[in-house]
Amino acid sequence: MNVLVINCGSSSLKYQLINSDSEEVLAKGLCERIGIDGRLVYQKEGMDKEITEAPMPTHKEAIQMVLDALHNPKSGAVKDLSEIDAVGHRVVHGGEKFAKSVVLTEEVLAKVEECNELAPLHNPANLIGIRACQDLMPNVPMVGVFDTAFHQTMPRKAFLYGLPYEYYEKYKVRRYGFHGTSHSFVSKACAEYLKLDLKNSKIIVAHLGNGASVSAVLNGECVDTSMGLTPLEGLVMGTRSGDIDPAIMEFIAKKENLDIDGVMNVLNKKSGVEGLSGVSSDFRDLEAAYNEGNPRAIDACEVFAYRVAKYIGAYVAAMNGVDAIAFTAGIGENTSFIREKIVSYLGYLGIKLDKKTNDVRGVEEIISTPDSKVTVCVIPTNEELAICRETVALVK
Ligand code: AMP
Repeated sequence: MNVLVINCGSSSLKYQLINSDSEEVLAKGLCERIGIDGRLVYQKEGMDKEITEAPMPTHKEAIQMVLDALHNPKSGAVKDLSEIDAVGHRVVHGGEKFAKSVVLTEEVLAKVEECNELAPLHNPANLIGIRACQDLMPNVPMVGVFDTAFHQTMPRKAFLYGLPYEYYEKYKVRRYGFHGTSHSFVSKACAEYLKLDLKNSKIIVAHLGNGASVSAVLNGECVDTSMGLTPLEGLVMGTRSGDIDPAIMEFIAKKENLDIDGVMNVLNKKSGVEGLSGVSSDFRDLEAAYNEGNPRAIDACEVFAYRVAKYIGAYVAAMNGVDAIAFTAGIGENTSFIREKIVSYLGYLGIKLDKKTNDVRGVEEIISTPDSKVTVCVIPTNEELAICRETVALVK
């Protein structure tokens, strides 16, 4: 089967066409500046990127351009659009309504819409993408894969906040967690790679990208995760603050004369390692500045690594032990010095880093020594492939 995987943002859209049998990416790319002017990047496997500037007033024109590119006679990945058998859509928030991926029917879409208030920036954009695909490919089955679904197995003690209970009852204010597709994919891949029995295992996944979260996966099910009602909670991220004393919000609002939107903008877009360092949110820049001795870049890297190590410690406690720790996503897969810093806090668990294998980038690798009591590894994530697999499982 050929599955088109769509990840729709408010003004952008990423796509991949994947052959689910060989799991080969036939073509991939993105549409940018939707509703502004419009730019399509298209790359067929083994060929150079093609860039087309063309008006994309809405997501519908953007998806039409993707479909045109996918079957264009010169560089198309398919001869005919009928060769696209299914579409898998990433949906950010499924609230408590979706604990699994689902085939997108009208009834399901109405439920997704009810989750919009939990993710007002993301879910409406996801729905626009789904609607546009349905208009252009009315007979192709579509599946929704939710970022929150994998975390729905968390027990109440992990997902309830210490707030008035009626906020949970009335507004569903609770921990949901994000990056679920990645945490699910990586925990499974980790068990497979290490030949662990997933159903009898304790795995901590550290998804460290521009957005970052940690999860505790007990016997294949998520029992806790660091992101919350929104992706702002938990780790210090590229530009997000992660956990702070909530009273800081009032303090900063008064000092800087900001309203609630202004404070949220600071916490989401001007904080994290970028805000701390004043250098960048990108760890390639931060590593260079760290090596030059830039004190704020050093602080940012130390704060980042320390926070990850604290969460790992918390999740060892939550699971009463750990068999494996898996690093994934941009930083987790590529940034050896940050992995080394994090692991340096874990000696009490009998963990020993293998500095040689820790020099790895973007491939599966064990980075702890053979006598380490817990195995630490790098497991590349692949959310598109995970969405493709979920889609096939539901439509085949
Ligand atoms: P992601 O959100 O998973 O795409 O991760 C993006 C982040 O990963 C970037 O902002 C960088 O901080 C980091 N990253 C990606 N590639 C590399 C690399 N080759 N070396 C170091 N850091 C990287």
